[in-house]
Parts: sequence; structure tokens; C-alpha cells
Amino acid sequence: MVRITNRKINDTLRNRFALDEFRPGQEEVVRAILSGHDALVIRPTGSGKSLLFQLPALLLPGLTVVVSPLISLMKDQTDKLTGLGIGAVTINSSLTRRQQAAAAADVTSGDGKILYVTPERFRDRHFFDALIEREVSLFVVDEAHCVSHWGHDFRPDYMMLGSIIERLGRPPIVALTATATPAVQDDIIAQLRMRDPMRSITGLIRPNLHLEVKRTVNADMKDRVLRDILATTEGTGIVYVATVKEAERLYALLRPSFDIGIYHGKRTPKQRTETQELFMGDGIRAVIATNAFGLGIDKSDIRFVVHYDFPGSPEAYYQEAGRAGRDGDPSRCVMLYRVEDRQVQSYFLGGKYPSLEEAASVARVLNAIEQRTSTPLMEIAEAAAVPRRKARIVLELLKRHGAMREYRGGSWERIAENVAQVDIGHDILDYEARRLKDKEKLEAMVSYCRTARCRTRRILEYFGVESDSSWECGHCDNCAASSAAAAAVGNVRRPAAADDLHGRNATI
Ligand code: ADP
Ligand code: MG
Repeated sequence: MVRITNRKINDTLRNRFALDEFRPGQEEVVRAILSGHDALVIRPTGSGKSLLFQLPALLLPGLTVVVSPLISLMKDQTDKLTGLGIGAVTINSSLTRRQQAAAAADVTSGDGKILYVTPERFRDRHFFDALIEREVSLFVVDEAHCVSHWGHDFRPDYMMLGSIIERLGRPPIVALTATATPAVQDDIIAQLRMRDPMRSITGLIRPNLHLEVKRTVNADMKDRVLRDILATTEGTGIVYVATVKEAERLYALLRPSFDIGIYHGKRTPKQRTETQELFMGDGIRAVIATNAFGLGIDKSDIRFVVHYDFPGSPEAYYQEAGRAGRDGDPSRCVMLYRVEDRQVQSYFLGGKYPSLEEAASVARVLNAIEQRTSTPLMEIAEAAAVPRRKARIVLELLKRHGAMREYRGGSWERIAENVAQVDIGHDILDYEARRLKDKEKLEAMVSYCRTARCRTRRILEYFGVESDSSWECGHCDNCAASSAAAAAVGNVRRPAAADDLHGRNATI
């Protein structure tokens, strides 16, 4: 453990990060980390989570490793650090072999103080061998909800982080995310094997966000409502849609009337960068985008976020909608809701986790391949007629049981005589439970859309935030409607009685 004075911390804040003072709650987390505690940090996007680990990184003797799910996010952060003259290194698949080797050399030589990596990187033997040479003082998992199966954005590669951290000598762990229910928080702690972590959870309430839901009966009406929002809302915004096809359709439809851009995973990197830059510089009114847009976007004056389609969970919704109004000025978060949307989402839900039959199919394929020959994931998935993502989960589970071995670049070889005999049934059934959980999230989202009560309150309750039984935000569409109605009959708005509220919750 290192002893670091207050003075030293404040000097670093001023001199290295050029910031005048901590925002509320930042300092206590920094302090906890510096004294060797694990910390789980949950606060909204834009609240300044990076500083919480970047500042300790400069004061701790060894390297700080930061796992981040997206290359664009890492680039954004390392560019900022480099701008401040702080040594930060990124290693990811967008670098050439040579650049990767150079970066790995920086890691071993001790030049970089902070290392940003995607979780896939740990599969690379050379990289890991280089890393293990360095003293790692702090291990950071950013966007930590990706660790949890219960989270809205589970990534199989995050499953290994717990054991990676052990192998790096078990430095203190910091996990950060904008959204996590109590169940996801517990899961993050368990998966990363955190020890009695400080839980710092603040700032879910965003008083400047005006939540609204527009009931629509068909696509035409949705289009009309969207047009209306674009025509009447000032400033720049994002319109989220569920699919690339829908994004292209809306873009073609609205482009003649509005100055808009489009962003999704099938556009070229050049097109995406162009759209992003136009958006950042207020060169366009809005971006029609899939959820590929947003994680790396650091624009504080987004004035509206419209969900044309229904997100799968309140976590996803609050994270995306919460990109609006980081500057604190009033901003609209509008959801266009149609009863059928829920079916579309239910359909997607079927596609996330492998079923017992799919696991069996993968096992048959593996048994048919000669032992100890390495086979790419893609071939295995194709032969088993199972989507790659699911095949990957089955392989990871078999690996945990020592039945498969994984090679760099995502190839696999069979170690066990017969992988069909390995008991992964439990894990698969666990996925069944997850599927149910996902369904619950979807229902919570439906309930959010349908409630006649305060929407902000509904979301906070979902996240387990306790509030006064009569608390209402006063500025969502439902609150505004009920105070308007009260004014019309000359009444003062009466807060909901607690019993009444609980009764409604029981129907979620
Ligand atoms: P998050 O990861 O929570 O979304 P970031 O770490 O990217 O947020 O920070 C968002 C912005 O807030 C950055 O521009 C950062 O420089 C700024 N910021 C963080 N802490 C402070 C502070 N104490 N004072 C002023 N600005 C800050
Ligand atoms: Mg962040």
C-alpha cells in the first residue's frame, strides 16, 4: 500500500489533469482506490468516471490496466491523456502487427503508465507474457456491465477477467458502469472476484431529462411523430432504431426535409467518422442510428434522444436516453411506443444464449473433429448450424471444464475424449434462467411505456433506488399531464399514496 497525501492528490488534479476541483463524490473513490480497496462505481455517463482511475494511475507505482469494450472509446480516452502529456498505451486489433509489438514493448519497458486493452487482447500469449513482467497496480474494468450475463450487453470475453486478474497478482480492482441493477452489481462483484468493494452509486436522477412516451398505432404514425419532434425540437439529437434496415429507411424518408446523418455498423469506417464529426460540430440536426452509435460520443449538448424502436431493457434505455443533456440543460428523451414492438424484441431474445440442443450440436461437431487439431470458431459454428456467438459460449463453458483449449485468433482444439460427456447442462439451464430474466426486463420496459405514473420514478425503482413514497419528478409527460389536469379542475396535484403505488408495482 502506498501512502499518498491529500496535497499530492489535489496537486495531481490541478497540474496533471488541469481541473480545478473534484466533482461531488469523486474524491472519496480516488482515495479508496489509492488505499488499496476494490471499488464498484455506478454513475451516469459524462459524470467523470475516467478520472476516478486515471488519477490514481499516476500516483501508483506500477501499471494501470484498463479493459474497455470498444476501440473508439479507448482511442478517445488515450487521445485525451496524450493531450495532457500522460503516458497511455492502447493495444487493440486496429493496430498493425508492428504497432502492436511497439505498444507491447512500451508496456514492458515501463513507458506507459496506463494501458488500454480490449478483453480479447488477453488471448494473445505474447502480450500476456509481456504484461506479466510488469507490476500491475490497478486493474480497471470500464463499462463493467459487460461482465454480467444479467447485464444488457454481455460479452463472453469479459468472462475470463476474474482469472486474468488473479494471474496478474491480484491488484485492486475498479469496475465502472453507468447502469447496473442490484443483481448486475452482485454479478459483477462475483465474476471479477472483488473483495468487499466500496460501492459508490450516485446520480441516477437527472432532473434536466424530460421523459416522454408517445403511443403510436403503426409505422406511419411513428414517422409522423418523429417528423414532428425533429421540426419542433431545437438543437442536435439522436434517433435510435433497432435495425440497419430501419435506419436506412428513415434516413431516406427524412433526408429531404431535415439535415440528418446516419450511423450503423454496416456503413464504412470513413462514413461513420464523417457522420460522427458532423454530429459533434453541430453540422447536422440529428443522427439516425443503431445502438452502435453513442458509447464513445462525448457531446454534452445533445438536446434530444428519440427511441423509434423499443430497447430491450431499462438499463439500455436509460444509458442511451441519458446521452442527452449532459450539460444539465433541459433535454427530451422520447420513446415511440407501439404494442407490437414487444414482439419484435421477444424475437431477438430467443437469439442470445445457446439451448441444450444447440450445445449438443456443437459437441457433436467437436467430437467429429480429430483431437488436438485446431479449428476456427467460424467453422465449428457453421458445421453445427449454430450462430457464432452461441457456439462461442458453449466453447467457453467446455474450456472452463478443461475439455477444450483455445488458441490465439479464436481457434479451438479438443482435449477431452468426448465433449458430449462434459456436464455443461447446468450452465445451459442457467441460460434458460437468463432468458427469463431478459423477458422480465422487457416487461419492465413495457410497463415503463404504459404507466400513467411518474416515469422517472418508475426507472429509479427499477434500479433499486429508494425514494420517498410520494416522490415524483414533476417534469415527465405523465407528471406534466397530471398537474395540467389538476390545474384544469382547480386542484393541487396530490402525490400518489404509497399503497396505491405498491399495488401497481405488483403488476409489473
Ligand atoms: P464518464 O466515463 O463517466 O462517461 P468521462 O470520464 O468521460 O465520463 O468524463 C466526462 C467529462 O467530464 C470529461 O470531459 C472530463 O474531463 C470531465 N470531468 C471529469 N471530472 C471532472 C472534474 N472534476 N471537473 C471538471 N470536469 C471533469
Ligand atoms: Mg466512461
